Amino acid sequence: MPAVALQSLWSVTAPAGPKCAPLAAPRSAQVAIIGGGYTGLSAALHLAQGGRNVMVLESRDIGECASGLNGGQVIPGVKHDPDTLEKLFGAAMGQRLVDTVASAADVVFDLIERLRISCEATRTGWIQPATSEAALQEQALRVQQWQRRGAAMEMLSRAQVAQLTGSTRYCGGLIDRRGGTVQPLSYVRGLARALLQLGGEIYTGSPALQLMREGSGYRIETPGGSVRAPLVIVATNAYTGTLTDALRRSVVPVPSFQVATAPIPPSLRATILPGGQSASDTWRLLRYFRVDASGRLVMGSRGTFAAAPTTRTVRHHYRAVREIYPQLAGLGFEYHWGGFVAMTQDHLPHLHELAPGLLAGLGYNGRGVAMATVMGRVLAQWALGTPPQELAFPVTPLRTVPLHALSGIGVRAMIQYLRLADALARTGI
Ligand SMILES: Cc1cc2nc3c(=O)[nH]c(=O)nc-3n(C[C@H](O)[C@H](O)[C@H](O)COP(=O)(O)OP(=O)(O)OC[C@H]3O[C@@H](n4cnc5c(N)ncnc54)[C@H](O)[C@@H]3O)c2cc1C
Repeated sequence: MPAVALQSLWSVTAPAGPKCAPLAAPRSAQVAIIGGGYTGLSAALHLAQGGRNVMVLESRDIGECASGLNGGQVIPGVKHDPDTLEKLFGAAMGQRLVDTVASAADVVFDLIERLRISCEATRTGWIQPATSEAALQEQALRVQQWQRRGAAMEMLSRAQVAQLTGSTRYCGGLIDRRGGTVQPLSYVRGLARALLQLGGEIYTGSPALQLMREGSGYRIETPGGSVRAPLVIVATNAYTGTLTDALRRSVVPVPSFQVATAPIPPSLRATILPGGQSASDTWRLLRYFRVDASGRLVMGSRGTFAAAPTTRTVRHHYRAVREIYPQLAGLGFEYHWGGFVAMTQDHLPHLHELAPGLLAGLGYNGRGVAMATVMGRVLAQWALGTPPQELAFPVTPLRTVPLHALSGIGVRAMIQYLRLADALARTGI
């Protein structure tokens, strides 16, 4: 197979981002934020709305990392079910965490509406098609738990999943009507534009190279300037570097890769996700898919790559599209791209105080469109003075992943293993 050119569909269909420049002078701010994705920009926006003078430092351009590359599926919730969260964190914190997770998609869609962000937002739900009877049983428990808490979530029969997705490959599933989709790059660029309009500052091409304590605050050095701030928020997620090395070692960056087809022919378009929902199935190596505003099927899954995807990863994705939608055989693939998802050992996002006045939020395990936006808000509330025990998210001690240096090898091995296990399950072995 000839090498595929890497270009994301989103970079072609998003409106241009705001023009920002590198930091080129010594400056100061009330809060400095390292990382200009959903976490950093949401934190900055909520801080600016709270009257703080904020500055965002971004290594690259806005949306060049996960927030501009993802599948755009707004998934309410984390991997754990609400009863589990309450057991893990106790009645009061557990309840607060469940409420936070339950309203995560509201936070995204409210921001989009309030800030008038044009990002192809649709809110017709998120489907989790089930690949086995065992998965269906787990989903039934999940749905019961959420329904008890009033969430708009229902089980779907095999026929309903087929009708809603246009794929007959699944044995049923669930729909969470709180979810939806966005054009992810347009969303992150919209957040950046809104922040600038509120008077926040963003410096792109401005990697934080050094972070040091100075007086009761911090000084951050970039190639062209520096920032002094009493409070710093680290919002670098899967792209965290050695600047905050223990934080880097608290998550495992896992590659995720996507392909987008040519526009689906009109005769088939009416049958493939006609309601505009997004879907992520229950294979061990899950596949997530949706149709974008230009009528292209976008399908993603974990891949095995360091800088660029292997031919094998690309082939695997083509096969997955044809397996889910045999009716699309023959339709070409026009866009290929990928990025890194930050996974945590407990499958939960993490909120930390790395040192006095140095806050961090990360680790969304592939569900960061909603959760990173919420985390940004929580970080802002903390920086604005809410005591940590009253935050909507638990503050936990930083725990590094054992043998982190070997995690790249481990991730590749795990992906091969999960792929094989799924292949065997498909053949009924
Ligand atoms: C291919 C893919 C598909 C995904 N699909 C979905 C999905 O459909 N739904 C969903 O909910 N989630 C999805 N996710 C996850 C979601 O995209 C992330 O959880 C979310 O974008 C995290 O936002 P963030 O702001 O924390 O991190 P990022 O968007 O990665 O931002 C971190 C930023 O920090 C910057 N940075 C790092 N170091 C420095 C430094 N020293 N100085 C300055 N800046 C620095 C980076 O350049 C980067 O821009 C997907 C992720 C990927 C990669």
